[in-house]
Amino acid sequence: MNAQLQAILDESRRIVLFSGAGTSTESGIPDFRSADGLYREKEKTFPYPPETILSRSFFQKHPDIFFDYYRTKMLYPDAKPNASHFAAATLERQGRLSAVVTQNIDGLYQQAGCTRVLELHGSALRNTCMRCGKSVGLDAVLHTQGVPHCPCGGMLKPDVVLYEEALDEQTVNESVRAIREADCLLVVGTSLTVYPAAGFVRYFRGKHFVLINRDETPMDDLAELVLRENAGKIFAELRL
Ligand code: NAD
Repeated sequence: MNAQLQAILDESRRIVLFSGAGTSTESGIPDFRSADGLYREKEKTFPYPPETILSRSFFQKHPDIFFDYYRTKMLYPDAKPNASHFAAATLERQGRLSAVVTQNIDGLYQQAGCTRVLELHGSALRNTCMRCGKSVGLDAVLHTQGVPHCPCGGMLKPDVVLYEEALDEQTVNESVRAIREADCLLVVGTSLTVYPAAGFVRYFRGKHFVLINRDETPMDDLAELVLRENAGKIFAELRL
């Protein structure tokens, strides 16, 4: 158990957890930039870089390839929350965590019991018809083939923020407010390289800035405590 982290959490009352794909690798969902992440794969089936496929212009031009990639690489319907997600839910129940601000699209914090989750990059669990605006669940993409359509004939689009798309303004405002008012910022499992999301960390004015990430990040110097270990293991060892 990390005694310094335990002491920081024990005295904090308005914790914000800012997280990325690294919090879900221990649930079996690959991240993008780790050594075994999706961006390092030698991909033969999809002869385009993931950043290209996951962009708005590619989605519009080649929806068939987009959905093929999206179903194969981005959807993990059987994934279960791990100790990182459950720790956030425990801290929220105890009234010590004001929000989870996450770049993840997998819904695992909510599955663990968190209710205040700000999803900067949206959610893979929801889709919207581009013609009539109807919102449908994951099954509409998971259990169909090719480009999924609404009964009205319109194409479905996952409620995830693609490259070239703007973040939802209300989610951004609420995230910045939560980070600004936090007394402790826990940054977990993110390379802090995807903007604008990564830049929100700089709004933190509170006392304790902790960074838990296996690899080095560009903001390690700003943190009071940097732990380069598996986040799930660290959270599992804490007394919450
Ligand atoms: P990233 O892939 O750029 O970085 C992940 C970081 O997590 C790496 O630096 C790695 O060292 C660290 N990491 C991996 N496993 C860890 C663990 N068990 N414990 C501690 N650290 C660990 O991810 P990012 O910064 O979130 O940015 C990538 C984008 O990928 C985000 O926009 C997100 O929407 C999207 N994404 C989301 C999911 C998901 O929802 N689970 C999965 C893949 C990608």
